[in-house]
Amino acid sequence: MLVALDGPAGAGKSTVARAVAEALGFTYLDTGAMYRCVGLRAAVDPDVDAATLDIRFDGERVLLDGEDVSDTIRTPEAGQVASRIATDPAVREALVTAQRRIIATGDFVAEGRDIGTVVAPDAEVKVWLTASAEERARRREIPVQELTERDERDASRETSPMKPADDAVEVDTTGLAIDEVVARIVGLVGA
Ligand code: C5P
Repeated sequence: MLVALDGPAGAGKSTVARAVAEALGFTYLDTGAMYRCVGLRAAVDPDVDAATLDIRFDGERVLLDGEDVSDTIRTPEAGQVASRIATDPAVREALVTAQRRIIATGDFVAEGRDIGTVVAPDAEVKVWLTASAEERARRREIPVQELTERDERDASRETSPMKPADDAVEVDTTGLAIDEVVARIVGLVGA
């Protein structure tokens, strides 16, 4: 069973996906962390081959070639670099392959931009999580303009542009409490 949770930066995906996974007893997969890992390496070696990187999750920790990068990948700069390398078709192909391999191993709540459209078009439940740009920028503690730039880059890239799957249920989290959002999504799984 797979719950695909997609949407723009700051929509609340991570918080909601973790809570939904916990409520259902599923494993949480943060695909953005994988793009951030590739970004870290690409910042040092622009020709890095994403397929050769060893990206693993150990509970809440993210390990890149054995090194704990959980904190380094969370900076706004790492987010910007991730969004830039995410336009590279070779990077996307490598990570989509890795993600499909992971979700095949059990029940997952996978969070990203292209889970319901590309990684797992057959996902049983698909949710497109949104919130107003102002609220999303506030949550990420970045200027609205920086967030809008990232959204535009994610939505306009040629390979797998960020967009809701045709059969995704849209949930706008602006002004909603996390519990309400989580209950709504858990309800979709039971439906
Ligand atoms: O979700 P997060 O902010 O960690 O993602 C960082 C960047 O990685 C996004 O801005 C997006 O460009 C890219 N990404 C992606 N596809 C995914 C997850 C993240 O292109 N499934």
